[in-house]
Amino acid sequence: MEAQKDRLKDLISHAKEYGFVFPSSEIYDGLAATYDYGQLGAELKNNIKTYWWKAMVQLHENIVGLDSAIFMHPTTWKASGHVDAFNDPLIDNKDSKKRYRADVLLEDHIEKIRQKIEKEVEKGLKRFGDAFDAAQFRATNPNVLRNQEKIEQIEERMKSALEQNDLEGVRQLIIDLEIVCPISGSKNWTEVRQFNLMFSTELGSVAGDASTIYLRPETAQGIFVNFLNVQKSGRMKIPFGIAQIGKAFRNEIVARQFIFRMREFEQMEMQFFVRPGEEMKWYDYWKTLRTKWHQNLGLGNERYRFHDHLKLAHYANAACDIEYNFPMGFKELEGIHSRTDFDLKQHEQFSGKKLQFFDPEMNQSYVPYVVETSVGLDRMFLAVLSAAYQEETLEDGSERVVLKIPAVLAPYKAAILPLIKKDGLPEKAREIMAQLQLEYSVQYDEKDSIGKRYRRQDAIGTPFSITVDHQTLEDNTVTIRDRDTMTQERIAISALEHVISDKASWKRVLSDLIS
Ligand code: ATP
Repeated sequence: MEAQKDRLKDLISHAKEYGFVFPSSEIYDGLAATYDYGQLGAELKNNIKTYWWKAMVQLHENIVGLDSAIFMHPTTWKASGHVDAFNDPLIDNKDSKKRYRADVLLEDHIEKIRQKIEKEVEKGLKRFGDAFDAAQFRATNPNVLRNQEKIEQIEERMKSALEQNDLEGVRQLIIDLEIVCPISGSKNWTEVRQFNLMFSTELGSVAGDASTIYLRPETAQGIFVNFLNVQKSGRMKIPFGIAQIGKAFRNEIVARQFIFRMREFEQMEMQFFVRPGEEMKWYDYWKTLRTKWHQNLGLGNERYRFHDHLKLAHYANAACDIEYNFPMGFKELEGIHSRTDFDLKQHEQFSGKKLQFFDPEMNQSYVPYVVETSVGLDRMFLAVLSAAYQEETLEDGSERVVLKIPAVLAPYKAAILPLIKKDGLPEKAREIMAQLQLEYSVQYDEKDSIGKRYRRQDAIGTPFSITVDHQTLEDNTVTIRDRDTMTQERIAISALEHVISDKASWKRVLSDLIS
């Protein structure tokens, strides 16, 4: 746990030092749970967006994009259920005065028990070696079974209390499990209360209920209200999807853990409209495809796991999260939800407009069902950065910090480094830069020793460093250094584009995705 915290701390300070993420309005001591992306952060973020957009929109002829406004007619949020039900159950510890989400306290408790099980399995593996059958061990070991039963009991009580909005029941469960406040260590808890997460503001100069509007808490509703506009103008046929990337706002109760939980964040959401009755087929389809999208980045497949939702949101008939092993442990990265026809039906009812599709094959109109994929851009950013961040001790005993960011997402694809600042080397280097710049973001650096410059590029995750020396002037070759292996190779300038594109081009990454 301590090591995990330190890792997050190291990551936060590295992100700040190199211009990835700054605390927002830092000169005024910052604003809680709000962050700004710096010069390199903006590049990385844009690249993540591009990867998502290309994979979802460009590679699917039946998915199109949208860019809807953040402000929406207030009735939207009545219809969607957010005004009445977009709540988190919160609880305060009277000694530390810290506020928590009651459901998160319970989930953390469950996770601790789960970790006990994993430790038991690891012990078994050590004891029995190759002959160890993990599945059998899990099915028969008394300690594992006892803990598994504990988890199931807690989950059962939590699900029933949350579903019935039984806040006293939620509190009782926290008391019965003897959950303590991580800060004060005490069990002195307040009641559990509901708290609406939407930010509201006023439109124009007139105050009062009629002019209250909300900052959207999800981008999805902008897609639903435009369902017919897009379907008609794009002549879309079911099944089809609408994708959108944009800001969302939530007045989170507990906003710690860096960019994992912010009050202003960005979502990449896609709503896929299908025939009623076919939603589970598409739900499975999107689960598989989205997992592939993540794994294709090569951050390590063991860093992901699925979590099926116990308590379904008011609109869903199936839901799961793709969880990622962040520095704080496994947490939600993406949600995949089968939202039924709830949203479109609600908007039909509140707007009095029909939101239906005439299916020529069935010769009938219906309100489509929806399968949603929703991934947090900032959480994706944190996932990439935390997998990439590595401190290494080299053979000569020196240390380096390297960001092993997937090449296609790296802020700069290559650094162009003249060995020295004279003899025409800078001019030659700039010539190479001018050529590569047309396709890739590259950086020129002539300051300090070449070793120091390599370290700087390692620290910002540049996959290739290209050094221009005196031989370059004679035979048009350069050395190209690989960030991860640190091996250097002498190649012709004319081969550079090919070498870079083999690792860092969209074509390469997208073709891996569909193969
Ligand atoms: P959580 O349980 O962590 O609060 P959620 O289930 O409320 O998340 P969704 O409503 O499913 O989240 O939103 C879809 C995605 O948006 C999440 O998977 C997550 O990646 C991202 N997201 C949600 N809330 C935040 C936040 N406060 N900061 C950053 N990203 C967020």
